[in-house]
Amino acid sequence: MTKQLYYFDHYATEFTATVLNCEAKDGAYAVELDQTLFYPEGGGQPADHGWINGIAVTDTREKNGVIVHTMAQPLEIGTAVSGKIDWNRRFDLMQSHSGEHILSGVICGKYHCDNVGFHLNMDKITLDFNAKIEDADLPAIELAANEAIWKNLPVEITHPSQEELAVLPYRSKKALSGDIRIVTIAGYDCCACCGIHVAHTGEIGQIKILSTQNYKGGTRMEVCCGMRALRSHAEKNESVLALSHALSVPVSQVAVAAQNKFQELDELKHLRAAEKWETFQKQAAQIPDGITNLLFFADGLDSKDVAHLGDLLSSKISGTVALFSKLDGDNYSFLLLNPAEDVRPLLKELQNDFGCKGGGKAGAVQGRVTAAEAAILSFFQNRGFSM
Ligand SMILES: [Zn+2]
Repeated sequence: MTKQLYYFDHYATEFTATVLNCEAKDGAYAVELDQTLFYPEGGGQPADHGWINGIAVTDTREKNGVIVHTMAQPLEIGTAVSGKIDWNRRFDLMQSHSGEHILSGVICGKYHCDNVGFHLNMDKITLDFNAKIEDADLPAIELAANEAIWKNLPVEITHPSQEELAVLPYRSKKALSGDIRIVTIAGYDCCACCGIHVAHTGEIGQIKILSTQNYKGGTRMEVCCGMRALRSHAEKNESVLALSHALSVPVSQVAVAAQNKFQELDELKHLRAAEKWETFQKQAAQIPDGITNLLFFADGLDSKDVAHLGDLLSSKISGTVALFSKLDGDNYSFLLLNPAEDVRPLLKELQNDFGCKGGGKAGAVQGRVTAAEAAILSFFQNRGFSM
């Protein structure tokens, strides 16, 4: 069994130890010490990282009471070593974990529900509750959780006896036996937990609910705490200020101004579509009567426009429409259309000559080709197409 120094002092960052074992494993080394400050992944809290003798520890796991440190280089068995945990990472995880307890305590108290899932990693914290949490309740929940921070309450760790546990209303995700570690924040939460916490709630800094979604009949909530909340605020502030500048409105009016802009864009799109339709109709009207097969060049049409114009042109002739729309340089998108005939053989010939891509059904194929306009023109003129 490795002596778990992190339980004696949540704030200790450096320690000395003796190497008990070191084995090559999966391209790295699994190192066991007689004692360690490296908290192994557990109770929803990710593993500590850091250094032993200056060599990086990239993971820490516990199995049957033995803590194994993953390292890139080996350590000599029997030697004394000095270790240091990555305190920024650990403190961030402590802030997040303690924040999660407060929020879960507030929510479970209000809704008489359970926290049925807790996922804490370096990017994200999610909490799952087996109750539908109403959006309208979120501001009050968030406020209550942050009040616990402002009160700077002690986070108490105890190991009650079985008799004491029997009458203690504590949260737990599973049935527990043996020595049970209880984390209490008076007035807010009491929970069985093996994680590492801050000593006082004030250290959490802030608890911010980022979003909620329906999850398995209950609610999944994404939150952030401590320095993550500060970072999240800074990122959002930067985005909102940039938007406020771009839209020339105060920050408080950014959402409304953006919606108005989208509406304007939508109206412009409709207007442009109507103008295009009118142009296509004019172009089709100029096609003389009596044409069988038609080659038509256009500029910069999207696939929807190509289909629209193709249909209009097709209605003016008796044979096949070959519509080429210039994208850039010698790149064209094209449509071959004939409601009464299979145009795939013509596509095959085009592919043989130009090595282009394309496909579709018997009466209509679409594709892309890189070719000079003159070469396309000559290909279709040779097959009796009019311009
Ligand atoms: Zn916990």
